[in-house]
Parts: sequence; C-alpha cells; structure tokens
Amino acid sequence: MNITGRDTFAIVNIDKYLENLNFLGSYTNAKIMPVVKADAYGHGMIALAREALKEGNNMFAVAFLEEALELLDNGMLCNILIFNYFNPKDFKNIVDYSNYLKPTITSIDFLEKACDILGKDISKFKFHLNIDTGINRIGIKEKELPTLTKLIKDHHIKIEGVYSHFATADEKDGFVEDQFNKYLELLNFILDQGIDIKTRHIANSAGLLFFPQYSLDYVRPGIATFGMQPSNLDNIEELKPIMEFKSVIVKVNELNSGESVGYGRTFVATKKMKTAIIPVGYADGYFRNLSNKAEVLIKGKKCRLLGNISMDQMVVDVSEIDANVGDEVVLIGQQEDQRITVEELAQKAGTINYEITSKITKRVPRIYIRGGKCLV
Ligand SMILES: *Cc1c(COP(=O)(O)O)cnc(C)c1O
Repeated sequence: MNITGRDTFAIVNIDKYLENLNFLGSYTNAKIMPVVKADAYGHGMIALAREALKEGNNMFAVAFLEEALELLDNGMLCNILIFNYFNPKDFKNIVDYSNYLKPTITSIDFLEKACDILGKDISKFKFHLNIDTGINRIGIKEKELPTLTKLIKDHHIKIEGVYSHFATADEKDGFVEDQFNKYLELLNFILDQGIDIKTRHIANSAGLLFFPQYSLDYVRPGIATFGMQPSNLDNIEELKPIMEFKSVIVKVNELNSGESVGYGRTFVATKKMKTAIIPVGYADGYFRNLSNKAEVLIKGKKCRLLGNISMDQMVVDVSEIDANVGDEVVLIGQQEDQRITVEELAQKAGTINYEITSKITKRVPRIYIRGGKCLV
C-alpha cells in the first residue's frame, strides 16, 4: 500500500552520508567507527548502517545492547561496540553473537557479574574498556583500574580496545589535551599489567575534526557523519546535512486584525494577514518552544510561525506570498536559494543540533535517497 497521507517526510540522503564518511576519513589515518546510536540521531540506523557496511565500514558503535541486536536482526553481522551499560544477565542470551558484540566494561561490578553468568564463556567476548579521563560519567575511574586489571588477568578476559571520551572537543579548549594525556597514562598502566590491547580510540566528531593528532586507531564520529556541525565555533562547509524535513500546506486562511492563532492566543494579528496551516506539530518532534520563533520555507521564502505549535499542526505567515494548498513546506533543508538548518532551529530552541534530529518522532516517515534515487 502506497499511502501518501499528510505528505510529510524526513528525506534522508544516504549518498551524502557516505560522502561525509569519506570526508571524515580524509582527515585521519585512523579507521572510522560510525556512531549510529539513537536511530542514527533520528536519521535511521538500519538504512544508514546497511549502506556504510556495503562501503566497507566494518565496525559501528551504538549506545545500548538493544540497538546492537537490532543491527544483527537486520542482517548486519559486523563488529558493534556497545558504549553503555546493560544488565549482565543478558550475557546468557547473547553468547551466540559474541563474535560481533563488543561490550564496554564500565565497572568492576559489571565485569564480576559477567564472569559469574558466563563462566568459561567469558573468553568468547572481546571487551572494550572505557576509562574516565575527566568527563566523569560511566568510564572506569583511575582508582578502580588496579582491581579491574587484576580481575581481567585472573579470568583471562579479552580486552580488544581501550577508549575514553572528550568533554569539550567542540569548545577546542585545553582540557582536550589534558584528557588525551591522562588517557595515555592510564593506557600505559593497563599495558604495564601485561594486558594486550589492539585498538585505542578517543575522538568523537569534534575530536576528529579539531584534534586529528589524537585520532589513534579508530575515531568515533556521530554528528558530523550526518552532516551536522560538531561545534558552534566553526562551520565546516564540507559537511553536508543529510536530512530534509518536508511537509505541505493543507489550508490557507485569512486572519483579520484582532484575531489570534492557536492555543493560548499567543499571537494576535494587528493587521489583515494570510496564514498557512502545516500538518506538523510537537508530536512529530518539532520543538514547541519554537512557537512564534522559527520559520519554514514556502516558495523559496522564509515564513514565520504564528502562535503556539500544537500537537499536530502549526500556522505560518504567508501574507507576502502566493501560497496554495499542496505547496511544499520545508521545515529543515533547502528550497530555492534559502535554507533552514538544524543548527538554526537548535539555537532558537535553546538546545543543540543533536537533540533536534534525534527527537523527530517515528510518526514522521523516513524516506531514503541512494544513488540519487528513492529507496523503497
Ligand atoms: C555519542 C558518542 C560519540 C559520537 O559523538 P559525536 O559528538 O556525535 O561525534 C562518540 N563516543 C561516545 C562514547 C559517544 O557516546
């Protein structure tokens, strides 16, 4: 069934995604481990990972075990690093996938429980160790390392990689170097215990782009692979946004002076106006705090939002343009020579680009472009 419905789509360009990966690859000698957690920041993990895998990327990173299993369930039998915690009880059920799943050791407790549950099978898994160098989240603390390394040796646990995570690479500040030096110090401690480490990694998108000298063996870019900017301090032209968010005008109204728009009557016309109704609301992930602030593109012109965004609709000012039912509306992306970026929406919504795309809900169908054509 080919239902067009409300003609509202997030169009994700896989060709551009692969170009971004190539561009990032040109920055470093390290291998790229595309980060596809959170449904690839809302862009669609399965479609993007599938194509990146065909292009030769063979290691991906996700936040949670559930996400890794979704990749495997969709036939992507590749190396998958799991950044975050999962209940060690789950080890019982994933032994068959131990060739692919690379769990992160985030605490002594996690590893002890994994040993209890897996017994000898613990040696089937190749773990990564996340060591904290200053972000103070789930990484292993320096003072936990002696106990942890002893546990690793006593149980013959295989450690494939040691990594850390930058707190301020997007701010390009000196703390990045401090973290990198701390990383080397802790890595050396681990190596000195006689633990063999194949892969070392620390850089996210901003780390890779602004501190390529810290690339090590793998880099872990997320945001930049989707063509979004990893920092407010820079605009990297080569990054091509891969998502466009489009809808249509479903109604054109006249608004008289003194009439208001939407819940709470936060916009009141002071003159006669023409408005267009768009079938997109905050339940699609379009931030409600963009009410009366953001713009959309119609006929290549920026049109301001009027009144509060509702759950399923929003109203824009089309007084100055010849707007008709069925006209294309661009909420994110390009139309003629105008563009609305995720970064601009993030700034108006008081957040970061990551949050804007990762919150576009599943009510918005994703459509994929590959080889210049729509994938069906
Ligand atoms: C999300 C994440 C990344 C990717 O970060 P970007 O800023 O999107 O490039 C890398 N490493 C870890 C540990 C992460 O959680």
